[in-house]
This record gives sequence, C-alpha cells and structure tokens, in this order.
Amino acid sequence: MNKLVLATGNVNKVKEMKELLVDMPLEILAAKDYQGLVMPEEDCLTFAGNAAKKAEVVSAFTGEIALADDSGLEVEALNGRPGVFSSRYAGEEGNYEANNRLLLTELKGFPPDKRGARFVCAIAISIPGDQTYIVEESCPGVIAESLRGEGGFGYDPLFIYEPARITFAEMSAEEKNKVSHRGRALRSARKLLTRLLA
Ligand code: IMP
Repeated sequence: MNKLVLATGNVNKVKEMKELLVDMPLEILAAKDYQGLVMPEEDCLTFAGNAAKKAEVVSAFTGEIALADDSGLEVEALNGRPGVFSSRYAGEEGNYEANNRLLLTELKGFPPDKRGARFVCAIAISIPGDQTYIVEESCPGVIAESLRGEGGFGYDPLFIYEPARITFAEMSAEEKNKVSHRGRALRSARKLLTRLLA
C-alpha cells in the first residue's frame, strides 16, 4: 500500500486530514513520524507556493507521497491582506486575539457591504518521481463588527458565513467542514488522489 505523509506539524490538521482520507488505500503518516524532518519556512507569496514547498520538502525527505496545505484570510477592503501573512498579521505568529483586534481596527467604519472577505486553502500533493499537484478552494464571507461564537480558531469569530448568517465560530466542526475552504480543498484533494492512484 502507498504511504502518504501529511506535511504539517499541526495536530488539529493531521486529525482533520486523516478523517477525510480514512477509507483511501493509503497508509497515512504524519511529519512527526520521521525523525530529523524539519519543515521549511512558509516564505512564499502565494498559498499554493507555500503548500508546494512543504509537500516537496517532505516528499524529498521521506521518499513518499506528501500532502501539505496553506490557508489564510483575504479581505477585499484591505486589497487581499492579511493573505499569506494571516497567522502573523499583527506581528506575533499565531496570536489570534491580536490578529482579530487589528482586523476590527482596520475595518472600523466600513459598512457591511464593504466588509467582504474569503478564506482560501491550497493543498499540494507531491509525488516522488512525478510532479507536485495543487488544488485551491475558497469560502466567501463577511467580516463581523464584533467577535461572535466560541468554536473554531483564528479568524472564525469574525467570519460570517452569509448563507447561514452565523460566524464559523458559531458553527459545529461538522457544519464548518461542509462549507469551509479547508473542507472543500480536502475533498478536491481526495478526488485528485483517487485519480492519481488509479
Ligand atoms: P496555516 O494554513 O496554518 O498557515 O494558517 C494560516 C492562518 O490563517 C491561521 O493561523 C489563521 O489565522 C488563518 N486561518 C486559516 N484557516 C482558518 C480557519 O478555518 N479559521 C480561522 N482562521 C483560519
């Protein structure tokens, strides 16, 4: 059976990705299963570039198929910022509270029809001896005027999914997965993998 290595150190992503790939003819491993494997810096200016970089490093190190993702929030009024810098928008890597505060400050005074945004997720699948394949999906929404909900992570309490009129942080994980950028990208990646392994 082919092995597939998930090129991420994030345990939540490993869990989510494993759930979606569970019935595929693949032995799923995580980057942490390989001693000495160091993940590269995410210094590309596109989600696809960062995902490809991670998948290629892991595939080259392990000699196995590798799957990596990169995601973030693009806000229309900010010309697509924070984009690939989403996790360090306010300076400190992964400080969700500071990021949300800065986003509210930058959008202060913007009416609802000027608060459009989208989450984007790129997934790269790198196959030894072959090439790196990319899928990219997004989910449109609107940035709320204050934090709403307790679930999720990152910008979820500010991201209103319009058809449901609630934020991602007000949804269950299952509800969010059905419509989110990452859920959509993982389902596309699954279809692509099925085709590549046939
Ligand atoms: P990465 O894909 O782990 O590099 O994620 C980059 C950043 O984008 C995260 O730290 C979050 O700030 C933001 N982000 C990506 N996906 C989501 C999501 O589903 N909800 C909330 N924030 C997200």
